[in-house]
Amino acid sequence: KELNMPEGTDVMGKLVAAMHRMGIDKVYDTSVSADLTILEETAEFVEHLGKNTGMPLFTSCCPGWIQFAEKKHPEIMPYISTCKSPMQMLSALIVEQQKDCEKKHFNIAVMPCTGKKFEAARSEFTHDGKPDVDAVITTQELIHMIRTAGIEFDTVIPEAIDAPFGMFSGAGVIFGATGGVMDAALRSAYYLVTGKNPDPDAFTAVRGMQGWKEANFDIPGAGTVRTAVVSGLGNTRKLLEALQSGSVQYDFVEVMACPGGCAGGGGQPIHDGVECAEQRGNVLWGLDKKSALRFSHENPDVQALYTEFLEKPLSKRSHHLLHTDIDAWQMPQNLG
Ligand code: SF4
Repeated sequence: KELNMPEGTDVMGKLVAAMHRMGIDKVYDTSVSADLTILEETAEFVEHLGKNTGMPLFTSCCPGWIQFAEKKHPEIMPYISTCKSPMQMLSALIVEQQKDCEKKHFNIAVMPCTGKKFEAARSEFTHDGKPDVDAVITTQELIHMIRTAGIEFDTVIPEAIDAPFGMFSGAGVIFGATGGVMDAALRSAYYLVTGKNPDPDAFTAVRGMQGWKEANFDIPGAGTVRTAVVSGLGNTRKLLEALQSGSVQYDFVEVMACPGGCAGGGGQPIHDGVECAEQRGNVLWGLDKKSALRFSHENPDVQALYTEFLEKPLSKRSHHLLHTDIDAWQMPQNLG
């Protein structure tokens, strides 16, 4: 809408073309690293299930949630996944790829989220003191830049995302909608435990705009998996209090600080009096449904990355590049 496109249009190809025109050499989609996040987090979740801690594993890709937990509920930190967010996983891989290259690179992330600016500045996401992401711009800021550059977006011919991070699954795309990380993770957890793919639409109970959702799923070999999805920090606080009082028990919890997830993120275009998170989320669910690939573990780019470089989820190299550690999930003193 902001760029004269009908509401709900998938404009990824046009964005790639517009960014190339603005002088950006390579444009990747973090949906590929969302697939990678799912494989790492799913492996972590299956390990966590075997530990019987009595506490769920919490997702880690939302910096608003991480900051909230660090400040208000530090006792929860040991139960938060150590996975970096898709933005930080992709940038760690890009920096690794660039390390022997003489050309100086400047890595920019375009995000629906103002909190990602803070995330990129965290000391645990640096290499030799230099941040893996040099700058984060929000989707609103990108729109402003495209307009300022005089690009007539509606006439731009779409271009393909650059290699080697060009392929992604529908499971990676739904990260931006509340319930999307959980849905994608359950698809791959089912595969990891049973060796078979589930129906990709078997986990629809975690979708929808309700601020606190619960759903149990039977995974042969793992038993009943108790899940919850919260969005909005008010709902998150209530869920943590309920967990700590023992009135609810879960195995896996997805937390997003923004109501409706990143589709409702603070960096997204704002239309006075109109909440767009649900509509944007529905576009993502629609893209997943139409996708030829519905499982993160079937993404060929991610499979190649493991075969050629990372070996397997939670390998030493994966831990080094794609995870933080519990001690690193601490508020820097000067920002506390
Ligand atoms: Fe950022 Fe909000 Fe998404 Fe969290 S839910 S990553 S704060 S946009």
